[in-house]
Amino acid sequence: MISRVKGTQDFLDMTLFNVLIKSTKEHLAFHNFIEIQTPLLEHLDLFQRSLGEHTEVVSKEMFIIEPRQESSERICLRPEITASIARAFVENGIQNIPWKVFTYGPCFRYERPQKGRYRQFHQISIEVIGASSVSQDVQFIAMLNALFATMCIDDFVLAINFLGCSDDRVNFIHVLKKFLDAQSGICRQCLERKEHNVMRIFDCKNVDCQTIYKDAPHIVDHLCECCMQEWQQLQRQLSLLSVTYVYQPTLVRGLDYYNKTVFEFMSNALGAQNTFCGGGRYNKLVKEIGAKEDQPSIGAALGIERLMLLLEPLKETFVVEDEIDPLYVIIPMTNAQHDMALCIAQDMQKYGLCVDVLFEGSVKSMFRKANKLGAAFALIIGEDEQRDDCVVVKDMSAGSEQKIKKEEIVDFLLQQESCSI
Ligand code: ATP
Ligand code: MG
Repeated sequence: MISRVKGTQDFLDMTLFNVLIKSTKEHLAFHNFIEIQTPLLEHLDLFQRSLGEHTEVVSKEMFIIEPRQESSERICLRPEITASIARAFVENGIQNIPWKVFTYGPCFRYERPQKGRYRQFHQISIEVIGASSVSQDVQFIAMLNALFATMCIDDFVLAINFLGCSDDRVNFIHVLKKFLDAQSGICRQCLERKEHNVMRIFDCKNVDCQTIYKDAPHIVDHLCECCMQEWQQLQRQLSLLSVTYVYQPTLVRGLDYYNKTVFEFMSNALGAQNTFCGGGRYNKLVKEIGAKEDQPSIGAALGIERLMLLLEPLKETFVVEDEIDPLYVIIPMTNAQHDMALCIAQDMQKYGLCVDVLFEGSVKSMFRKANKLGAAFALIIGEDEQRDDCVVVKDMSAGSEQKIKKEEIVDFLLQQESCSI
């Protein structure tokens, strides 16, 4: 047997996935975001330049496609979508800012598969390109907070931090390195991070490192005047909108392009991989990938698999909401009634009725199947019905039956539907 590729999964029931996408789309439309789509394939360069060569994603997790002989292009499967959206903004010469867009789809990272962590997973990426105000950050975070509330996810924590501007970051890296120089017992990986991506030390899972970093300096204590004011404003306005948050000084986010506001939504219900949405401000990214000017921007990525884990216990509520349409199952008793069944099904579908036809098995097994499918009515066509041009309509919950003329079936069923509303 050929099995699926490690770290990928088959979705055999898309109900939850679709409900999640539907409510996200509705929520975002309500907040004036438009849906776009970018390719799954991008130039490797895009992510090397935007995320940073020394980030875990670029250095270890990229799915790179071997170049063909005639081309030296280095192409990869996208590991995230923010950089793609920023590229689309630049490449399509978008002038209308702020550009408020979202998209969703698969992303690929060569990671060790485990619960909530796959090599092919799905993100919803939401971006506002060309907006610099802290108030925009606050509105964006509040919008996400409200989205999770509409999904009935309540067991989560919003963690925030402020990484300052580029100058603050350069200064702070100095301060942090000085602190690290004075420590002993730091793991090898962190010593490496210290050279290339020192802020990432805070993500280290090593217990000894974590103990040491409890005393590490906080970047918010090393902000310039202007950034300090913005950081204060961010906290004040989140409280103004009654958004509950915790300040987490070690929250740095993995990718190089973030500055100023960063945030993550986490839930204990998820276990080790507890972040289901992460984002922040990226003021330099757009220029980095080729635009003439910087575009102050903010965005977030939602992990669909992790959201689905959170929504799993609520699945039944969504299913009921999603399957209001009654199902009609047509049962032609022998092959001779197949033509009639096909025509009736087509007629009913034209009127928006949800229809299935059972073409195989004994009459008894077809009835069993209709029950299993949750049919509201079974439409039975036997030899007699075929001769008289009618069907027997059986109400599956009441058990009652009536013979209905073929041309009156749609009217009859529509009437039944309107009575049951
Ligand atoms: P983590 O710390 O879990 O590795 P990350 O910082 O690498 O996350 P981001 O790049 O911020 O993740 O991606 C945004 C969201 O996408 C994450 O919060 C998570 O919900 C989801 N995500 C990231 N990587 C994976 C993966 N391999 N499998 C499933 N979901 C993922
Ligand atoms: Mg990761």
